[in-house]
Amino acid sequence: MKGTVFHGPHDVRVEQVDDPALKTPTDAMVRITCAGICGSDLHFYEGALPIVPGFVLGHEGVGVIEEVGAGIVRLKKGDRVVVSGVVACGRCYFCRRGQSSQCAESGSAIFGYGANSAGKLGWLGGAQSEAVRVPMADYTCFPLPDAIDDDAAVFLADMLPTAFFGALNGNIRPGDTVAIFGCGPVGLCAVMCAKLFGPAEVIAVDSIPYRLELARKLGATPVNRGSATGSSLQAIAELTDGRGADVTIEAVGKESALTAAIMSARGGGTVSVIGVFGMPWFNFPIYHAFTHDLTFRIGLANINTHIPELVRLMESGAIDPRPLISHVMPLDDAAKGYDIFSARTDNVMKVLLKP
Ligand SMILES: [Zn+2]
Ligand SMILES: [Zn+2]
Repeated sequence: MKGTVFHGPHDVRVEQVDDPALKTPTDAMVRITCAGICGSDLHFYEGALPIVPGFVLGHEGVGVIEEVGAGIVRLKKGDRVVVSGVVACGRCYFCRRGQSSQCAESGSAIFGYGANSAGKLGWLGGAQSEAVRVPMADYTCFPLPDAIDDDAAVFLADMLPTAFFGALNGNIRPGDTVAIFGCGPVGLCAVMCAKLFGPAEVIAVDSIPYRLELARKLGATPVNRGSATGSSLQAIAELTDGRGADVTIEAVGKESALTAAIMSARGGGTVSVIGVFGMPWFNFPIYHAFTHDLTFRIGLANINTHIPELVRLMESGAIDPRPLISHVMPLDDAAKGYDIFSARTDNVMKVLLKP
């Protein structure tokens, strides 16, 4: 089959790779019909996360079940499904407590992360390909109703559950002001998810005008942080009578955005972090956090836990991520998709690949 293989920074190629095959009775094979390129894939692409090359990328896939192992009970051949970006068993202590990303059985393996997630389950080929082997498929593949098309469904694999998790962690109350740092696809999904909790205002911070314009269309108040240090803090202070935001959500994965998210929360506010950070340590402003009674939440989203409720929200029309799609390309053009997404050219937002 064809797959998008990572060869090194700024070098991905669609080429022939081995067809995946079922390995255990709880595996399923999914024929991919639509895959997303995620901002976290760019960490590999741009060399920010050093990694052994030679694996197929992608952890956002939608497709059709082609084959199931003998131990599968909830899926059958022909089912249209979204494949969660993270494998989970659905039965362990953590999965039963709604913390699927801490799954004790899967080791929270992520598709298309090469050796970075080669734990108990071995290397998991990515979704930017023609097919994937899905371990623990009963709780990693989720059937889709007809009302949700492939383009919308691909957001269920990572973007929307991550944004929803960030909004939940923010403990948003009706009437709150929520400030979201980063207007990439996850940041804009966070705008949509924050609105589910009834805030009075959602402020969206970025420096790229077309992204801020899309945030405005989604109902957020855009703030261009420009290049001046502290400019977003000042703008948020002005919008909140000098208090700061009730809730801030970091959706970038950069130290500057994280610092701004901490410093622009009001006293007693909550900082919720969903950006993926390549660096292991961060210089935390602990005295400020102490004197301002801040709550700090961070985590890898419990994607599998949240997919069923997001399927219902999408089916009912309460959430529609499709305005974020800027490019739909054949799988063969994946290298071009990476290039555009990385360079932020062509007003790129979300890039989808179709085998
Ligand atoms: Zn992702
Ligand atoms: Zn589990």
